[in-house]
Amino acid sequence: MEHEADQILSPHVLIMPIPLQSPVNCMLKLAELLCMADLHVTFLNIDHFHSRLLRHTDVESRFLQYPRFHFETISDGLPEDHPRCADKFYEMTDAMVNVVRPLLMERLKCGSLSSKSSEAALPVTCIISEAIIGFAVEIAQQIDVPLLYFDTTGPCSVWTCLCLPKLIETGEVPFTDDDMDASIRCVPGMESFIRRRDLPQFCRVTDISDPSIQLVLTEVKQLRKAAGVILNTFEHLDKAVLSRIGTLCPNLYAVGPLHSLYNTKLAASIKSPRPHSTNSLWKEDRSCLTWLDAQLPRSVIFVSFGSQVAITINQKMELWHGLVKSETRFLWIIRQGSIIGETTEDVELLERCTKERGCIVSWAPQEEVLRHEAIGGFFTHSGWNSTLESIVEGVPMICWPHFVDQQVISRYTDAVWKIGLDMKDVFDRIIIEKMVRELMIFRRIEFLESADKIAKLAKESVTEGGSSCRNLDRLIEDIRSMSLPSPKLSGNLHIQ
Ligand code: UDP
Repeated sequence: MEHEADQILSPHVLIMPIPLQSPVNCMLKLAELLCMADLHVTFLNIDHFHSRLLRHTDVESRFLQYPRFHFETISDGLPEDHPRCADKFYEMTDAMVNVVRPLLMERLKCGSLSSKSSEAALPVTCIISEAIIGFAVEIAQQIDVPLLYFDTTGPCSVWTCLCLPKLIETGEVPFTDDDMDASIRCVPGMESFIRRRDLPQFCRVTDISDPSIQLVLTEVKQLRKAAGVILNTFEHLDKAVLSRIGTLCPNLYAVGPLHSLYNTKLAASIKSPRPHSTNSLWKEDRSCLTWLDAQLPRSVIFVSFGSQVAITINQKMELWHGLVKSETRFLWIIRQGSIIGETTEDVELLERCTKERGCIVSWAPQEEVLRHEAIGGFFTHSGWNSTLESIVEGVPMICWPHFVDQQVISRYTDAVWKIGLDMKDVFDRIIIEKMVRELMIFRRIEFLESADKIAKLAKESVTEGGSSCRNLDRLIEDIRSMSLPSPKLSGNLHIQ
């Protein structure tokens, strides 16, 4: 589909997330921010995820207020009962390439995404795709529109990924021996603190033909072909890393913490407070907020490992003993199916023994939990959204990273931002007890003070005139300009 040279089109953004909880959540928030600016938006969701969203959230009614918004769904060809979780990630990315890509190409070739909706029938003028979807470049070329990648992972990790070709070329990856404390030299800007163990976990492979490495190599090659890259961070937090990424991907939009920018814009745009809304793929148990109401200020550690991590029953027991021995009250999220090898008796025993010391629920309204005054610390897997949600609320962290960007983020939380403790690669009740006491008791003031400073900067960035607010405005202007016959992008992100 070619655009007529002199045709003026309405700006229409096609948003393509990858079908996982956190990217879908981030991209829905971005979609709503674009709708608030009156742009036409089509959100492309995998059928299976869309039904879950409809089941557990208010997305349908929430987006009804934006007549220029439209949900479009597409099949990924996987069986309905496929778990679609992190340990089946490569089956999901294969399905995206082999099923979603041709179906989408076909629909776009006909000139519109859908014949059902007049919104989706408008020509697309810009694509915003999650960065891992390498074929988005091809789709954008086919319909001759600019592509913006949204990398929803932590920018410190994005930079290490952009350096991966160099790390391989110089022989730093794959690792040549077991010394995980060896320093890494070929990630500029991180030489003084990054060790092998802090690189993304896919660097631990022994063979670079491993699909995890190949997927990232493709991603970083494609990232540089986009007209711009959207990142969920704010300039004060990631100034050095943003400058480095900017040398390879010059047009950056740092619009984070996106959830906070979204909350601020929403509060300014509506006259009366909206009932609690969510993009969660699981049903939220709000009873934990009542439990928190009865606890002392800053006395509870919140324990949650996001939407993908699964742990063994032994790890769960070590964690439970460590928490109990630390004598700190805890609110623990144990997602259904997230404990490998667990029996019903295990669940009942733990719940019985926990009543005095803590509260366990299967999914919580996490942003609200972290905002609660009873929370004094967060035992996290260092997922990027959890980290940003904690940063905004000034909650120090204990980091137990598992995969993707989490190893790098946990190192940054401890060694660079100094708002937490990195507990990677060791996990037993003794170290857990020690870390919890350190965070919640011995170094409590130090951590709360540094977390509070960064929280203030995060909030400044999303208020009117703040850097993320300005970057969002620039993004919107650029999207508008992309629908003109000769688009002019605003250019580089200027980091002061
Ligand atoms: N989350 C939630 N309730 C829970 C646990 C997690 O709403 O009980 C949300 C959390 O607020 C965050 C997301 O799930 O937005 C997890 O994203 P993150 O990037 O931290 O980790 P991932 O799930 O991608 O591993």
